Amino acid sequence: MTTTIHTINELQTQIKTWKNSGFVIGLVPTMGALHKGHASLIKKSAETCDKTVVSVFVNPTQFGANEDFSKYPRTLDKDIQLAEENNADIVFAPSSEEMYGKNYNKDFMTLVCPPYDLVNQLCGKTRIGHFDGVATVVTKLFNIAQPDYAFFGQKDAQQLYIIKKMVKDLNFPIKIIPCPIIRESNGLAISSRNQYLTQEEKQKALSISKALFTIQKYYEQGITDAQTLFDTAITVLDKDLELEYLNFIDYETFKKTDIIKQHTLVAICAKVGSTRLIDNIIT
Ligand code: AMP
Repeated sequence: MTTTIHTINELQTQIKTWKNSGFVIGLVPTMGALHKGHASLIKKSAETCDKTVVSVFVNPTQFGANEDFSKYPRTLDKDIQLAEENNADIVFAPSSEEMYGKNYNKDFMTLVCPPYDLVNQLCGKTRIGHFDGVATVVTKLFNIAQPDYAFFGQKDAQQLYIIKKMVKDLNFPIKIIPCPIIRESNGLAISSRNQYLTQEEKQKALSISKALFTIQKYYEQGITDAQTLFDTAITVLDKDLELEYLNFIDYETFKKTDIIKQHTLVAICAKVGSTRLIDNIIT
């Protein structure tokens, strides 16, 4: 049975009881509109931990002024059902006021700012302040739920890297568990934002994962030059997509690399119509 909680106080009371009983607690932070990708994280938490908290919160601090905060899908009843099916114990769904107080103002709150070198590339280049918002809300959720484990998807590879670094740098006693990208059978990475796509756009969006798989194939055939792989991938991408980036990043240092080797993050972001999609592979 999954209990839905809307207040920090109520969640903390429950957490305290669990801690007193010695339960291991897992946290799965989400923005809701839950799908199979989220389900895999919840399932993993339920397998790993005694108790699982799924947070559902469309976090205003991580959206830019011209982004999709107001139209982001909000489907709490369905989310609770999916969380329950995957053995979550609690869905924590606070309001913005509960998380940030009455007069929400990003310029008048303490923010957690991840390192400039990590933020100033990939999504952070165009989504100014996005990762400050992510790190801040995740810090708050960590402080509120005090999990032993927290589960994050590889789908948001830059976010995952930043959270791992934050946990290390700020000494959170939490183990971060990365979870693989869940895809549709045709290869499209599942995302809450896929709901925005028309059928035709979905077809075009497929070329994003195709481009990544093409890179993987050529890499496995021995091509390691990033520019050559980039040029090949571009020919696979649907012409109507607006490419924001296709970058090759050393996944140990998180710096751009010209030569691909094992553990290179190949990350892509493209707009299909007005929908911005991200995907990646790690070689
Ligand atoms: P979101 O609700 O989009 O903020 O995502 C919440 C968590 O689910 C993040 O850790 C995401 O990386 C993860 N996630 C989203 N989509 C997928 C997917 N297709 N496969 C695996 N994890 C995912």
